[in-house]
Formats: sequence, structure tokens, C-alpha cells
Amino acid sequence: MARKNLTFHLAERPKGNIVPGKTFNLVETDAPTASDLKDGQILVENIYLSLDPAMRTWLYDIRSYVPPVAIGEKMRGGSIARVLATKSAKAKEGEYVYAGSGWTEVAVVGDAEFEPIVLPKGTQITDAIGAAGMTGMTAYFGLTDIGKPKAGETVVVSGAAGATGSVVGQIAKINGARVIGLAGSDDKCKVLTEELGFDVALNYKSPTFAEDFVKATPDYIDVYWDNVGGDILEKALARAATKSRFVMCGSISRYNGLEKESPGIRNLFVVVTQRVRMEGFIVTDFRDRYPEAKKQLGQWIAEGKLKSKETIVKGGIKVADVAISNLFEGGNTGKLLVEVKPIDQGNENSRSLL
Ligand code: NDP
Repeated sequence: MARKNLTFHLAERPKGNIVPGKTFNLVETDAPTASDLKDGQILVENIYLSLDPAMRTWLYDIRSYVPPVAIGEKMRGGSIARVLATKSAKAKEGEYVYAGSGWTEVAVVGDAEFEPIVLPKGTQITDAIGAAGMTGMTAYFGLTDIGKPKAGETVVVSGAAGATGSVVGQIAKINGARVIGLAGSDDKCKVLTEELGFDVALNYKSPTFAEDFVKATPDYIDVYWDNVGGDILEKALARAATKSRFVMCGSISRYNGLEKESPGIRNLFVVVTQRVRMEGFIVTDFRDRYPEAKKQLGQWIAEGKLKSKETIVKGGIKVADVAISNLFEGGNTGKLLVEVKPIDQGNENSRSLL
């Protein structure tokens, strides 16, 4: 009997939050097979689907860094996937790859849309999508090329307990900086200071956050990592040191309302008075240097200098449209993934053996 395949297609452009069962249609078809492959393609089954805040921004019909997902189109996304069949010289059957295979169970993927997973011993396969993958590389390039923290400088990271922020703070510590993480719960703050080595962690939802933030930054902020935008960015601007660097990575507090005009950012004149450099970037700007980042991040993880955190939602591909709300409600610590299919623990490429 033909294998069945569940796939999410964009049904409508949401206003506000993604609505499970409404924003996407979950469609069942026959799965593609090896006989569908052309030269340079592989057939994969997804194992872990990456859920990313940017996915919400791809649902708007607005000018962005990638075209919007079209109505009726398969939802875009990156995964760790297992190769079921291959007509590509880049991958063998049974190997795991990082693939842009989308919100589906089985897919045909072309040479340009996947990369073999190369990680040192001491890492786990999910690192290829998290701390040594796209979000880890975002942290690596944003810090090494834009933030450039020096030993003794103060680095403040917003969204600090998430996939990107948790790596940013740890790399800043490796560089000898004093690191302050901002996160949305006391439990997340504990993870930052007790597990990940942050010097200070502040709960931005605490009623005393404004005073706590001023107290924690007596020498002002040399590097601010912006994952969230909004009033936290405004507060950080008010504490910017002379010649500080603001690494503009994301603005998740706005992602559910991008169709509305931005309310604006207060305290922007500080950029002039303190000669602040604010610079945005997209990780794909650094595509040519991915091997450098993956190698360094993998090495740090293997040496125990970089700890990778992840939140894995089980239940198969069908839970993806519910699971993504974690990103906007603070439900995840570290990288948010959906387990599309339990990985074969007996396989030599399995998570624990890598
Ligand atoms: P995270 O793992 O950090 O998850 C998102 C987190 O954001 C949530 O857990 C939540 O944590 C926090 N959050 C949600 N809403 C708000 C809000 N209104 N105010 C403050 N915090 C909020 O996701 P990623 O690491 O994947 O992404 C983090 C940021 O980096 C995003 O803005 C994303 O778009 C950006 N990014 C940019 C890239 C680039 O190339 N420029 C590449 C990858 C990511 P909490 O409990 O602390 O509220």
C-alpha cells in the first residue's frame, strides 16, 4: 500500500496569531517515492522540523528578505531528515541531512536544498538544526562580525533563553564579556545563570524590571543583541554606552502585527549622542562562511564550552501549527523542534551516538 504523507499548506494570511486548523490546511496525499527522483535529488523523511519566529513573517504579503509563502503553497521550513533514496552524489541512503523540506513528512529535495550533517563526537544530531545549525550560526556571525564584544565589556541579550539568544550569551562569555540575559520567566532566568553561565539574568515581565535593568548596567551596555524589539529595545537604547553596537537580529514582539504600522522606537536620539552603531543582518548573508561557524560551534559543544538547549514537541507533523505558538508565548527554552518521526536509536547516525 502506498505510504501516506501529511503536509501543511497555507490556507489564509492570519491577522494576529496563527490559528491552528485555520491558517493552514493539513492535506493527506500519497507520499512521493524513489521513482519520482530526478538526477541531483533525494527522497527524505523528516525527523525533526525546526520552528522559527521568522515563519510568522513569511505569511505576510510584504516586502521582506524572502518572498512570502503563497496561499496554497506547502509551508516552508528546515528539518533534520533521513535519506530514503538518492540520485545525488551529496548523500547516501540512510544518512541524515539538514533539508529545506517544509512542513511535511516525506519530500523530494534538490541538491541546493540540503546539506549533509557533519558534527564532531560529543554533539547530538539536533545540534545540526540548533546550536551548531541555523540559530547557532546566527549567534556566531552576529557576534563575531557585528557585536564584536571585547573582554570586560557588558553584553545584554534579549530573548536570551531562546535558541539564538542562549548561544549569543555563551559565545559572549567565551569572549570574556560580562553577560546579562533578559527572559520572560524566573525559571528561564535560572537556566541562564545556573546552567549557561550568564552573569545576570532579568525577568522582563517582573514589575521591577525597569529598575533592575538600570541597576544591572551601571557601566552601560557595550553590545545589545536585539531579538525582540519593542519597549525592551527602547530601554536598552537608554542604557547604550558610547560607541556601543546594537546587533539587530529580530523583533519577535512585532511579528503578529506586521500588517500594522510600527509604533516607532523611543530613545533613538541616543544613537546620535552616544554614536551607537545599529546593524541588522540575516544569517544567509554569511552562507559562504557556514563551514567555519559549524566547525567552531560543534567544537565548543564537544568541548563542553557551549551547551545546547532544546524543546522538542512530540506528536508528529500534525502538531506543527499548534507547537509554533510556543515561540510567541515563551513556551520554549532553546531551540523549538517538532519530532516528526521518532529517530531510530539503533542507527549508527542516531542522536545519542553522534
Ligand atoms: P527563540 O527560541 O528565541 O523563541 C522565541 C522567544 O522569544 C520565546 O521563547 C520568548 O521567550 C520570546 N518572546 C516572544 N514574544 C516576545 C515578546 N513580545 N517580547 C519579548 N520576548 C518575546 O527563537 P529564535 O532563537 O529562533 O529567534 C529569536 C529571534 O532571532 C527572533 O526575533 C528571530 O526572528 C531572530 N532570528 C533572526 C535571524 C537572522 O538571520 N536575522 C535568524 C534566526 C532568528 P520569553 O519567555 O523570554 O518571552
